[in-house]
Amino acid sequence: MRNNSFKYWSVPAALVALLCAAGWINFASAQQNQNAPPLELLKVRGNIYALIGAGGNITISVGKEDGVLLVDTGLAQNADRVLETINNLSRRLATFDQPITQNAGAGGSGTVLTGIEPPKPIRYIINTHVHPDHIGGNEKLSKAGATFTGGNVAGNIGDAGDNAAIFAHENVLNRLSAKPAAGQPAIPFAALPTDTYHVPYMNMSHFFNGEGVRLIHQPNAHTDGDTLVYFRYSDVLATGDIFTPSSYPIIDLDRGGSIQGIIDALNNILDIAIPEFRLEGGTFVIPGHGHISDSADVAYYRDMVTIIRDRVQDAMKKGMTVDQVKAAHLTMDYDGIYGATTGFWTTDKFIEALYKSLQQQGKK
Ligand SMILES: [Zn+2]
Repeated sequence: MRNNSFKYWSVPAALVALLCAAGWINFASAQQNQNAPPLELLKVRGNIYALIGAGGNITISVGKEDGVLLVDTGLAQNADRVLETINNLSRRLATFDQPITQNAGAGGSGTVLTGIEPPKPIRYIINTHVHPDHIGGNEKLSKAGATFTGGNVAGNIGDAGDNAAIFAHENVLNRLSAKPAAGQPAIPFAALPTDTYHVPYMNMSHFFNGEGVRLIHQPNAHTDGDTLVYFRYSDVLATGDIFTPSSYPIIDLDRGGSIQGIIDALNNILDIAIPEFRLEGGTFVIPGHGHISDSADVAYYRDMVTIIRDRVQDAMKKGMTVDQVKAAHLTMDYDGIYGATTGFWTTDKFIEALYKSLQQQGKK
């Protein structure tokens, strides 16, 4: 589906309504206060769900065997509602996905449903990158969980208690544990990654909820510590902010991001994702922000980013300044979909970052 012609929100909304009616999915909105933004929980495929609205998108693997694995944790102020939503989901799956007979009890022969099962623990958290809208819930959600003992986390247990383990690329830990800027609070110890990797990719050491999970580093893209998380059996890829179909790509130059890294990473996503038929369907891609996507969405987005990069590069070759590039409206045909004149990531900010990133690239 094309990014501008199809929003996944509409289809899963109907699906979610059905699932709600069936008692399988609970909107957290029932419990939230009126000022808080709504959280939306979507089943993606198999054990994988997406929780949207807590900051960056959160990807959830939930199962009766292993419990819960999260990709990102949203903003700190939403952590309680995120935890409640995850626990509701986990509890429902644990309670209802088991044999129940009508004539249980006295005279019956079947299993007695003795009550609501407790939710399964959060075992692992994977952070796609360093930004607070993706790691803000780390402390609360990790403390609410419990790691497996033994294996590759045994060495951390003395440090981290028995909280859920937090995985990230080592650049994420380096940035989070660096001395905070004047006036900024230090990141709490329990929010820091407990396990890091520095190689191009790392596999989780064992199956989780029946599938392999691979963490794939994307160098100098949105930041210098970006991780794609691939669920191999469900065929779902969580991208973090490398792919944000709701806006132009956010290039965090101060934290090692670059335009070329983003384009390379988008091409890597397209290498991993396999469409079902003519670029539609197949691998589901959960972006850092915005709607659940497939290969067609990513390809369209990759083309857009590449085209705008080329336009700005040509303008720079003609000697145009950044202000002249902004005034030339080189993104006009895409602004209706990705542009913004207000808020954190305006079109002008995108052009400034893109221009600067190309300047830095030219100096190399
Ligand atoms: Zn980000």
